[in-house]
Amino acid sequence: MLENKVSLVTGASSGIGRAIALAYAGAGAKVVVSDVDARGGEETVALVLQAGGDATFVAADVSRPADCEALVQRSVERYGRLDIACNNAGIGGDQAATADYPLDGWQSVIGINLSGVFYCMKYEIAQMLRNGGGAIVNIASILGAVGFATAPAYTAAKHGVLGLTKTAAVEYGASGVRVNAVGPGFIHTPMIAGLEADAATAQQLVALHPIGRLGTPEEVAQLVLWLSSPAASFVTGSYHPVDGGYLAR
Ligand code: NAP
Repeated sequence: MLENKVSLVTGASSGIGRAIALAYAGAGAKVVVSDVDARGGEETVALVLQAGGDATFVAADVSRPADCEALVQRSVERYGRLDIACNNAGIGGDQAATADYPLDGWQSVIGINLSGVFYCMKYEIAQMLRNGGGAIVNIASILGAVGFATAPAYTAAKHGVLGLTKTAAVEYGASGVRVNAVGPGFIHTPMIAGLEADAATAQQLVALHPIGRLGTPEEVAQLVLWLSSPAASFVTGSYHPVDGGYLAR
């Protein structure tokens, strides 16, 4: 499905990003695994190699524009081009209502979850235009579509990711670059391990999903894989929930 394609995944040392890197590699793409966490990143690379794929780790903090520019440059140095990018790196951030939300917490969530996606897209799109097109998938959230008490920064950032996605799709559709966003419901990853550790909270989270459970990183990765592939050639500028029915309530 993705033979001869070069892909890049941010936040690929853990959770959803790791599952996406493995799905891309399983479909035949070369994968640039990127993250701030080098140890986890090398683990992801090892998993890809064990499965017979080709991957390399490049450290990058997506809240730093220079890191994002260097990430794309190093991907091209290593594999010659860039066809697919999944901007997945993100943090949950502080939990507090809007009037109580810490200012530094706001800056940090917006810096990683929103500005980080913009910085990556800026350099990824420039490279994709140079090599004749590509596909970008931005990992938003159900909270890119609805509000959630005590998560103002996260919710604002994820809504912003949808705006960036639609705008770039309009700008570059005719140049062969497709841009879509995916909105996971609550997914079993280290990001929500703290919430899941409390049995009552875990039960409340499950109750928000009509399907009766939380999702897995692999279930998100399957949608991202499809959107990144030629099978989705007429799909751009759209938001795709993968949420066990969360938004259908
Ligand atoms: P995760 O397991 O915590 O993985 C996120 C990865 O991103 C970690 O390896 C993390 O490194 C890395 N990261 C953090 N800050 C970074 C930065 N500035 N630059 C580069 N990498 C950075 O979380 P996940 O659940 O897989 O989340 C992946 C994406 O899915 C996020 O965008 C998240 O908002 C979104 N999402 C998750 C859920 C969910 O329920 N899990 C639901 C909807 C959307 P460290 O561990 O070292 O910080």
